Amino acid sequence: MGYNKIKNKKEQGPAKVKLFRKRHKIPENKIIEELRARYENIDESNIKNFEDFPLSSKLLKALKEHNFIEPTDIQKQSIGLALKGNDILGAAKTGSGKTLAFLIPVIELLYCQQWSRELGLGALIITPTRELAYQIFETLKKVGKYHRVTAGLIIGGKDLDHEKNLMDQYNIIICTPGRILQHMDGNKLFHTHNLQLVVLDEADRCLDMGFEQTINAIIENLPAERQTLLFSATQTKSVKDLARLSLREPIYVSAHEYAEYLTPEGLQQSYVIINLEEKMAMLWSFIKNHLKHKIIVFFSSCKQVKYTYEVLCRMRPGISLMALYGGLHQMRRTGVYEAFCNKQNAVLFATDIAARGLDFPGVNWVVQMDCPEDVNAYVHRVGRTARFRNGGEAILVLLPSELNMLHKLQEHKIPISEIKINPNKLHSPHIKLGALLVRDLALKETAQRAFVAYVKSVYYMRDKKIFNVHVLNTDAYAKSLGLAIPPRIRFLQRLQTNLEKNYEEKQKKKKNCLDDFDGKLMINRDYSSNYNNDDDDSGNDKEEQRLISKGSRAEMFGIADSDEEDILTIKRMNIEIEGEIEEQEVEEKRLVQNQRKSKNKALTKAAVAKKLMKKKIVPNTKKTFDHKGEEKIDPAKSKVSELAREYENQEASGIDIEFAKKVIHEEDKFDRERFRERIREKHREEKRKLKAHRKKEQSENEDEDEAVGSRDETYNTDDSDSDGADLSWLPDPDKIYGIKTPSNETESDEAMKKIYKPSKRKLVIMKKTKEKNKKPKIEVTEKGDLLATEELALELLRN
Ligand code: ADP
Ligand code: MG
Repeated sequence: MGYNKIKNKKEQGPAKVKLFRKRHKIPENKIIEELRARYENIDESNIKNFEDFPLSSKLLKALKEHNFIEPTDIQKQSIGLALKGNDILGAAKTGSGKTLAFLIPVIELLYCQQWSRELGLGALIITPTRELAYQIFETLKKVGKYHRVTAGLIIGGKDLDHEKNLMDQYNIIICTPGRILQHMDGNKLFHTHNLQLVVLDEADRCLDMGFEQTINAIIENLPAERQTLLFSATQTKSVKDLARLSLREPIYVSAHEYAEYLTPEGLQQSYVIINLEEKMAMLWSFIKNHLKHKIIVFFSSCKQVKYTYEVLCRMRPGISLMALYGGLHQMRRTGVYEAFCNKQNAVLFATDIAARGLDFPGVNWVVQMDCPEDVNAYVHRVGRTARFRNGGEAILVLLPSELNMLHKLQEHKIPISEIKINPNKLHSPHIKLGALLVRDLALKETAQRAFVAYVKSVYYMRDKKIFNVHVLNTDAYAKSLGLAIPPRIRFLQRLQTNLEKNYEEKQKKKKNCLDDFDGKLMINRDYSSNYNNDDDDSGNDKEEQRLISKGSRAEMFGIADSDEEDILTIKRMNIEIEGEIEEQEVEEKRLVQNQRKSKNKALTKAAVAKKLMKKKIVPNTKKTFDHKGEEKIDPAKSKVSELAREYENQEASGIDIEFAKKVIHEEDKFDRERFRERIREKHREEKRKLKAHRKKEQSENEDEDEAVGSRDETYNTDDSDSDGADLSWLPDPDKIYGIKTPSNETESDEAMKKIYKPSKRKLVIMKKTKEKNKKPKIEVTEKGDLLATEELALELLRN
């Protein structure tokens, strides 16, 4: 095939003598004609091996190489019909070989038409998940290895631009719905004019509400004249679904319609009833007891998978742990998928993206930690083990409130029996988990998200007879996850208050209507609509459910993948409303949607302003007045200029640009003045600081002077900023002259005045110098009371 370009060159050996005549080669179209002629005579009851089918020798060779000798039931029944060109609805248990049941006709059809690269796309295979697409692609590579058709794997998470240029090269495309639609919409190179055959693997999933619009859009782009094959273990028979595909007299092929059970024979199924808070302990104990097994553990949401994986990895259980969920990068997803395929013993924590179609070899156990949303989900999950005549075990963990699920399973021919867990054997890891969370904040947040995601998943489950969020012991559950404080479940609290409000309103309405009715003694339309038109309401609600955006659903369940984000949710949205409980449920959901809608829209200032303008609401303003009663204007908050204030008070709508320019100009003057004032203030502050600093230094120097005796420094008393001469450095005159008696007061005053008279000291600059080996001296540079000063200085030096 085109994708397998590596060719082994044969070693050149010595020339051989030809002993036999070269056989005449039959032309390919002749072979094809012969094969086609045999199509009419295919009788499935006579088919023992693949060779009994009129298949090309290339295909038979590849099948044989991979040990596909004897076809399975579904292969026997459907391959012949498909080769003849029929539309098929194929149903068979999980692991019964449905992939080959459609791949063989695909390869043969293109071969018989001698399909070439130039003809473009001949067959399109659509699957709901990337891993499943990848798996089918790998099987196609195996069985189509001798054919000359090209095949492409078109799934999300890969380089779209690179893919775009190759889209016209593929004869067979295996894809997920979202990605192929992307190419149909925006890639001119891609067309489906020549398409011969479409396959929907896991058809019921592809056709359910999650992919409804995408699949409809894809089908619109396909030629009406084509063959369609649908396969699933839980095949849809919905006329509405099938009408969308415009099938041509489809043939329903059910390989195990009359089988005793819906699930594989080799599968042992059991359930265990435990409380929510015991789940973690049960899982931990289970893993520790099955270290030599290959196990898949299903959870309801990505966040639970992420947390369980991360925290249990740190607890080192002694077995490889892996996680597969929508939020992972595609490279990592493929890596995990392949690694788990190749492992002998490992535990894979997964969401329902791993529930359908995946053929991991040798899985011993499927553990469903959370109850599946319905019987179909159960069938697909357990179908990951006991595949193709192998054995396997499945265990379903149920809460006491989820027992209704058992009745549903039994109704659908699923044999399941109870097993009890010995409580003594349960080892709860919650203390260790708690210690881990205390040390790691990120892990703690993951735990909190997991907790909320689980509660949400229960809340959004469709079947309220099974799932009841209000009975969950969430506090104990949080503790079991290692969370000392249970996270707030805000959405539930909000819903509760909204519901209460709604209930009160409803009651009021009811009362009003009854009053009307009593008063008028007649049935008016409003009254009847309030009480009897539940169906209409529910109809609207249903419509709203359908309108929920993908993004919000992904957010709800923490699934970031564009193809798979629908997997968990949509079915829950498509609610059949019967009776009181479901009506309430729908109402709750509508509230959530409304809330989410409003949440999604960011509230911008512009939007608020628009709203206010629309409603002509004038916002309150705060005015302050000075003691004279005049309004104080804060220039930082409001316009100052007369012109601007006039402009603001104008009532005319719209913006007068010229006037606005003038206003800006006017305001600019005030702004500049404010700026200048600020700079001035800053300078003043700097000066003030400098002065304080100097003062401090001065006093320090003084201290030192006292100790050392003198220092080399200049004091400038002529400081324009100073409030007068700083004389603090001078010694206390009382100490020098002694305290004078009152009679001497005038005399001493006179002396003091002589010394400290500010006018005399105004321009005095005294310089203390300290030269080596010289006595310090004081220079007085202005005439004043020199004698007194000299005397004082000498006295000072003497002391
Ligand atoms: P389904 O799609 O029905 O769940 P698959 O097509 O994935 O099942 O096949 C399940 C397993 O059975 C695969 O590992 C596949 O290789 C194997 N298988 C399918 N058909 C045959 C066959 N005819 N002979 C041997 N093995 C087969
Ligand atoms: Mg399959």
